[in-house]
Amino acid sequence: MIEVRKLRKIYPGGVEAVSGIDFDVEPGEVFGLLGPNGAGKSTTIGMLTTTVAPTSGTAKVAGFDVAKHPLPARRASSVVFQEAVVDRSLTGRRNLEIHARLWGVDERESKARIDELAATLDLAELVDRPVGSYSGGERRRLEIARALVSGPRVLFLDEPTVGLDPLIRAELLDAIAGLRGRTEMTVLVTTHYLDEAERLCDRVAIIHSGRIVALDTPAALLSELGPEILELRVTGSAHAAADALRARGIAGDEAFAVGSTLTIPLRDTSSGEAIATVTDLGIATAISTRQPTLDDVYLRLTGDRLAAAA
Ligand code: ADP
Repeated sequence: MIEVRKLRKIYPGGVEAVSGIDFDVEPGEVFGLLGPNGAGKSTTIGMLTTTVAPTSGTAKVAGFDVAKHPLPARRASSVVFQEAVVDRSLTGRRNLEIHARLWGVDERESKARIDELAATLDLAELVDRPVGSYSGGERRRLEIARALVSGPRVLFLDEPTVGLDPLIRAELLDAIAGLRGRTEMTVLVTTHYLDEAERLCDRVAIIHSGRIVALDTPAALLSELGPEILELRVTGSAHAAADALRARGIAGDEAFAVGSTLTIPLRDTSSGEAIATVTDLGIATAISTRQPTLDDVYLRLTGDRLAAAA
């Protein structure tokens, strides 16, 4: 449903925001594009939604080349932008009706869809109130309803929960997750919250400085780190601590550091043995063990790797 080949964007002035990426998204799949600010996520969405012209490479949405056939590509898809696009002076329902009409949805179909979306996205109580009176999370749910009212085959969500407080964020994630299974819609979501990707996505691509550095299911990415993580707050250099632990067979090449925190995936060592070794070496002020998260996968790929040569 989405096919991206050697897609590249160099902005005027020379910033290479996207450096030749490849990925496919299957029909009905929820695909996450993860990466820190400036990684190239919005530029990628911009190219897929035909608002940013690719410098080279190709991208197809529902079979339509975004550069050669932008109109049908756009017709097949919908976008939820980071910025609000609904009209605050109108009611939610009026916003949805206008959008449906713009997209050529006939009136009866439009009414049925609006009622259904209001129910699915928990907007039924609010939909007849002016949008100006909505909370941030309520408005974001209306933005999603707006994107869905045209019945898109592909939905693009650009950082859907950014700037929301944790409770509202959780509610919105529930609403997005609830869209799954209801339709055959394909979803591409960008985020820098890894828990969000883990919760929503069938597969994720981790993008760093315009390149895809990993692409798999969240479970497969996690399994690369083994069953348990040892986390240390080190007193001196993280590199020296990693070397000492490597010499004792505790750390492998997957260890990584963020500031004075050293993170070591434990593969062949029990946590008891690892903790005893760290204590023996006297290199840490705090020691803990936990299960790996996508944050670890991500930091390992984008942070300071402590490979043996380092
Ligand atoms: P993300 O969405 O992952 O935060 P972006 O795609 O917005 O990343 O940005 C990728 C890079 O491209 C950044 O270095 C950013 O400064 C640069 N960039 C984004 N938009 C433009 C633009 N219109 N002109 C020049 N550079 C841009």
